[in-house]
Amino acid sequence: MDAWVVARPGPITSRPLERTRLPVPAPGPGEVLVKVEACAVCRTDLHLAEGDLPPRRPGTVPGHEVVGRVAAGGPDTVRLAPGTRVGVAWLRSTCGRCRYCRRGAENLCPASTYTGWDADGGYAGYLTAPEDYVYPLPEDAPAEKLAPLLCAGIIGYRALLRCDLPAGGRLGIYGFGASAHLTAQIAIAQGATVHVLTRSAGARELAVTLGAASAGGAADSPPEPLDAAILFAPAGELVPVALAALDRGGTLAVAGIHLSDIPALDYRRHLFQERTLRSVTANTRADGRGYLELAAAYPPHVATVAYPFDAADRALDDLAAGRFEGAAVLVR
Ligand SMILES: [Zn+2]
Ligand SMILES: [Zn+2]
Repeated sequence: MDAWVVARPGPITSRPLERTRLPVPAPGPGEVLVKVEACAVCRTDLHLAEGDLPPRRPGTVPGHEVVGRVAAGGPDTVRLAPGTRVGVAWLRSTCGRCRYCRRGAENLCPASTYTGWDADGGYAGYLTAPEDYVYPLPEDAPAEKLAPLLCAGIIGYRALLRCDLPAGGRLGIYGFGASAHLTAQIAIAQGATVHVLTRSAGARELAVTLGAASAGGAADSPPEPLDAAILFAPAGELVPVALAALDRGGTLAVAGIHLSDIPALDYRRHLFQERTLRSVTANTRADGRGYLELAAAYPPHVATVAYPFDAADRALDDLAAGRFEGAAVLVR
């Protein structure tokens, strides 16, 4: 099969991705083999290609927002018949036994593994995944529109839960890429007032089209104090900016897996009056199911830019340079 691998992690201009051919993988016990229809491009793929996230094994195929069909089941698979349309997401496996797994916080499992990091992902013709971590998907939506839901959608949903937005509250969204544009739509549908703060003029336009109450520059002050905020941009310098924009008792959730350094905080301006700063670490399968049910009931507008499979390196380059709005999706 055709595949892309992270050959030499480094700046995207040094072409860290390499096109290659690999044997179609054989599903192990409990795993299904999935034939890929589409795979969305996540900023995490860029962090892996550039080495901001160190590789866990050499020459791994990236991609963890995969829509495809079960092509075969390995030994002991019972749930998903061949032909079933499925999504493969970031969380690939957890131990099921540790204190975090036992209390419903499997996203914190120290033994967790990830698609496209610990195992080959969806920038390929096929991939394998444990069937217990694969999500059945509806038949009636195009793969290009479903793929971004699998990380951008699910992680954004968890970030929204983590920022403790009160009903009808005022939410600030910093950065407005694939995940943010999906998250804003849930918050607006649930009655929140959403203020978007981002450097891209195109993203500000998209935000207003999707129903944001205001859209300003990345470090601007929103027009009113915020009950909650989510930082999607991987920019640590925005942490004090967003904390200062919170009202008393507000919470800032940092959605990304990688963040540049956070400048020194001023206790009185940034944290006192019970402001809270939180991270968001991957997601649980319950988050995944919860979000995908919500997206099936209230289908979001998914802004996508399709790239042919051959152009994965160009898609990452365009993401790094901010050349599109919404999500890039590799379509086979
Ligand atoms: Zn565990
Ligand atoms: Zn992702």
